[in-house]
Amino acid sequence: MIDKKNRYFELKKLLDSYSRQYYLLDDPAVSDAEYDKLYNELLAIEAEFPELKDASSPSQKVGAKVSKKFKRITHATEMLSLENAYDEEDIAEFIERVRKAGSENVDFVLEPKFDGLSVSIKYKNGVLVNAATRGDGRVGEDVTQNVLTMDIPKKISLDYELEVRGEIIMLKADFQELNKQKEQDGEKIFANPRNAAAGSLRQLDAEITRSRKLKLFTYAIISSEAHFSTQIEVLETLKKNGFTVTEHFALCKTQEEAHAFYENLEKHRADLEYDVDGVVYKVNDLSLQNKLGASAKFPRHSIAYKFTAEKAETTVKDIVVQVGRTGNITPVAELVPVTVGGVVVSRATLHNKDEIEKKDIRVGDRVVIQRAGDVIPQVLYPIIEERPKDSKPFIFPDKCPCCGSTLVREEAEVAIKCINLDCQAQIIEHLVHFVSKNAFDIDGLGEQSIRYLFEKGIVKSAPDIFEIESKNGRKFNLQNAEGWGRQSLENLFASINGAKRISLDRFIYSLGIPQVGRTASKLIATFWGSCKSMLDCIHEEKYDDLLAIDGVGQSTVDDIRNFCENEHNLTVIKRLAGDESSSGCVVVTDVERVEGGELAGKTVVFTGTLQKFSREEAKELTERMGAKTSSSVSSKTSFVVVGENAGSKLEDAKKKGIKILSEEDFEKIIKKISRS
Ligand code: NAD
Repeated sequence: MIDKKNRYFELKKLLDSYSRQYYLLDDPAVSDAEYDKLYNELLAIEAEFPELKDASSPSQKVGAKVSKKFKRITHATEMLSLENAYDEEDIAEFIERVRKAGSENVDFVLEPKFDGLSVSIKYKNGVLVNAATRGDGRVGEDVTQNVLTMDIPKKISLDYELEVRGEIIMLKADFQELNKQKEQDGEKIFANPRNAAAGSLRQLDAEITRSRKLKLFTYAIISSEAHFSTQIEVLETLKKNGFTVTEHFALCKTQEEAHAFYENLEKHRADLEYDVDGVVYKVNDLSLQNKLGASAKFPRHSIAYKFTAEKAETTVKDIVVQVGRTGNITPVAELVPVTVGGVVVSRATLHNKDEIEKKDIRVGDRVVIQRAGDVIPQVLYPIIEERPKDSKPFIFPDKCPCCGSTLVREEAEVAIKCINLDCQAQIIEHLVHFVSKNAFDIDGLGEQSIRYLFEKGIVKSAPDIFEIESKNGRKFNLQNAEGWGRQSLENLFASINGAKRISLDRFIYSLGIPQVGRTASKLIATFWGSCKSMLDCIHEEKYDDLLAIDGVGQSTVDDIRNFCENEHNLTVIKRLAGDESSSGCVVVTDVERVEGGELAGKTVVFTGTLQKFSREEAKELTERMGAKTSSSVSSKTSFVVVGENAGSKLEDAKKKGIKILSEEDFEKIIKKISRS
């Protein structure tokens, strides 16, 4: 039981962090299949121990909190997710439930499930007034300026207040074109058309959105003033008003009819110009839709019947191993290019040594690969009957392909690592991370340029980046190298100089310490407060102090210690940020704090879902006010801040007579601090 409980909380944390990557950063950390596997594991534990489930569970939440980059728009009617069906049995159960609430003769409208991101566009007196993403279902991001750049009706003939809802997608061809361009520019490519659409819409510069040629498929009208009686009528009205509506929909009376539509669409999905990942079954009668209502996460009148992942057969030309930033060695299959779901695939991950051995994948094998809205396609299995006679099992290298040092496997870990810190492949990956968007954010330094500068001996470690300009005239002549002209070099030096002033959290993140991502960096920066405290902590080896941070555990602290105790890393930190005796080449700004405020010296616990802050943000702001945060209520707790659907901590606080603050109370207290 304890094990399962622990696993449950571990899964919650993992899924939340994957959702943030996926919805907020448009940069999934794992494949959809991996996410769905963990999600289903969480559902199974919740079914066994229902008491564990509360409003903070991924099974009860839609999407993720909105990004702070955008203004927020509160949806008058929530934007929900869709329940999934995986087989005909799930569909039969859904139809049965609907019939119980309606009658034996319920009709269903079937539509493609577009693989994009949903948007709600509001019209008043026939004029487009704003547009928002789904966000967490209640509050979305204001993307009005971006949507205005798209080819959609800005004026319509319906003169009452209404919201048009639909899915913004990127055509497969436009996606390929965009990634090709990004690759040429040395930028990170998008994992799939869905992420490309989301990343292109959620831009502060609407001109970028304009250049990305996004499309909108509409499927709903939300309005208290509209009087449609069926979903078919809604689709027709949308079409009449100039919106794009799918041509591939059907009105079905029986499960058999519906299944025929599903099978036909699945068969032809690769021929469509855009990605669809299933079929949405919707009750046609809108009054019955209303009667069926919704759960916290799904409407009860619709269900998404997902397609099985797209598969194809091809041949493994070679198996190569890559070295990542932290030294992890990842095997990759190089394939004879093959089209899977409209995307040409020429590489697929083999994950790790165990996976290759378990599946016995060999060079020369004919293999089945799968792409499921995935980050990178996977090799499912080799077709043994077609294996060449002279084939031999793949021998995983025992030496690093880059530096030749002996690879190690740490106890109980699947990953095989190169632990040589001078390994070039790792250094390059580190440098790429160092200049990336959430770190020093240096424009014009993509992977290709970094590789060039490294290979020429110009940039051997991160601080060298800040010396390129001063040495350019004397030592290196970069003009005309790597395609740099006078102007682009000037731009590069300007962005390097502009990046010299950096906040402590970004600085910590840029170091690339294992397990210290953006969230941990922010929490640690708030704890240290200044670069000086960071250097003192390193100097005095007081790493265990970091355990006081709610959200930072022993293994993260161990990684920080190991990282900072390495002489090379320490030199890099000192060259960058300096200490009392030597000033570094960058300026790390202190964390803004409010001294002596209402929260100084207090211990604060959060429970339930806050509407205006993510949990991490609330914690960070609280700590900047001089308070500690804790995840459990005890006699030391000064306040409990209560969001929506608060759980047992609220009861606990009431019993113990601890002061309870609403989100509004909390907001008033922390308003003295600017949210960065
Ligand atoms: P979803 O995208 O699977 O389904 C709900 C959405 O479908 C709706 O919000 C709507 O926008 C859309 N939709 C498309 N066509 C529609 C139509 N014709 N009618 C009505 N709605 C339509 O659900 P979700 O909650 O957004 O996302 C969950 C999925 O996202 C998971 O299955 C998972 O695979 C993936 N995910 C992946 C990661 C990752 O790290 N890879 C992280 C989080 C979520």
